[in-house]
Amino acid sequence: MRKDRIIGKRISVLGMARTGLACAKLLKKTGADVFVSELKSKELLTSEISQLKKWNIDFETGGHTSRAIRDKDFLVVSPGIPPKIPILSQAEDLGVPILSEIEVAFWLTDAKIIGITGSNGKSTTVSLVGEILKEDEREFQVGGNIGIPFSSLVEKISSDGFLVLELSSFQLERIEEFQPYVSSILNITPDHLDRHPDLKSYMEAKLRILENQTEKDFAVLNADDPNSLKLSSYGKSRKVFFTTQREVEEGTFVKDGKLVLRWNGKEQEIIKTCQISIKGPHNLSNASAACTICGILGVAPQSMQSALRGFKGLEHRLEQVATISGVSFINDSKATNVESVWYALQSVTPPIILIGGGKDKGGDFSKLRELVQKNVKALILIGEAKETIKRALGDLVPCFFSDSLEEAVRQSFRKASLNDTVLLSPGCASFDMFKDYQHRGNVFKSGVKELARRHGATVNP
Ligand code: ADP
Repeated sequence: MRKDRIIGKRISVLGMARTGLACAKLLKKTGADVFVSELKSKELLTSEISQLKKWNIDFETGGHTSRAIRDKDFLVVSPGIPPKIPILSQAEDLGVPILSEIEVAFWLTDAKIIGITGSNGKSTTVSLVGEILKEDEREFQVGGNIGIPFSSLVEKISSDGFLVLELSSFQLERIEEFQPYVSSILNITPDHLDRHPDLKSYMEAKLRILENQTEKDFAVLNADDPNSLKLSSYGKSRKVFFTTQREVEEGTFVKDGKLVLRWNGKEQEIIKTCQISIKGPHNLSNASAACTICGILGVAPQSMQSALRGFKGLEHRLEQVATISGVSFINDSKATNVESVWYALQSVTPPIILIGGGKDKGGDFSKLRELVQKNVKALILIGEAKETIKRALGDLVPCFFSDSLEEAVRQSFRKASLNDTVLLSPGCASFDMFKDYQHRGNVFKSGVKELARRHGATVNP
């Protein structure tokens, strides 16, 4: 623990959303003089402001002024803060260190950190690891980019517990000493190229998770992903692999239709792959990753098996919503990049009517051509990216535009026949039409529920 780095220090926290608030509260409680700075105007921040007042924390709203950097020992940035805003370059010019919330929270815990990053599958894998640890009756907390901020967890866990954290590349950009006991990079595919200038800089941000690990720590890497493999000589940690496509000397792989863990000189069967509740090749890979991580922590394969049988997946990830007149509706709103659509098109039963589009993140939709030709019977496109997607795929299958997601749901049902699957897997961010991907998924689900009501069909709970 490094409370000495906090006590008596003058610290600014940028961002007044959940993470910023949690961090400000933790720093104040630890003994810092805290100031919070937020871009949004105070009218939109009533509950946040009342919390800060209750904790006796000073703040500003409506923009980041020089108060945020004047006489400060360091700044803490919340994950949502864009990397290039003027206040950050001003802080750099003044030599005020800028740190990520995960760096600072790390100073305040002795629990073992399991840090999971990657382009896709983070939330699913983090949740799976949590489910497995629960089955094994371990002390643990799950959070970070998923759900509860790291700063809120440090007081809930003892030094014997495990903190399972989902980490985005943005959170890793501003670490200095953050050192997970087990780190994992699930995969690296082009994503967030709107925020990172190129794949190289995106990879560099991800591999920072490895940089402070020592020989006593572990890095769990994907043997099936060429970009992740490139990182296997980076850092001092012991590298352990997960795969679904080959055997590895140490780690988790598939053998004779079963997931197998080879660790500490022992080979143990975990589960038949067909008994894993979450479906699709990507989820098998996530399960393989989770078992490798838990194997390192000494978890019994029996606990892994029970968790993999029981875990039904997260909301908005290939979530079965309803079957109406023999047409199945699946909500994969969290598919915000092309890669996840690529997996979704292999994970649900064809013929598929694919609802896609949204705010373009620069993904290459032509990568879907083969699968669209094979499994998709129509495309229904929404949002800013509709023209781009039509240009990439529109010559392969009939392509329709919709002005709203509700209309897209109705249109897809009109085009569907018995045993078709309507899949919302947008391959784009949601911010052109929705607050976030949850909002988009919920609008889809209400549209489907409305349709189900009119056709007397039942909806999955
Ligand atoms: P993340 O937290 O990294 O965004 P999620 O588990 O929330 O990952 O899944 C996001 C989307 O990516 C969903 O559409 C899901 O079906 C898909 N997905 C999940 N795991 C993988 C994976 N290993 N590879 C590719 N896509 C994946």
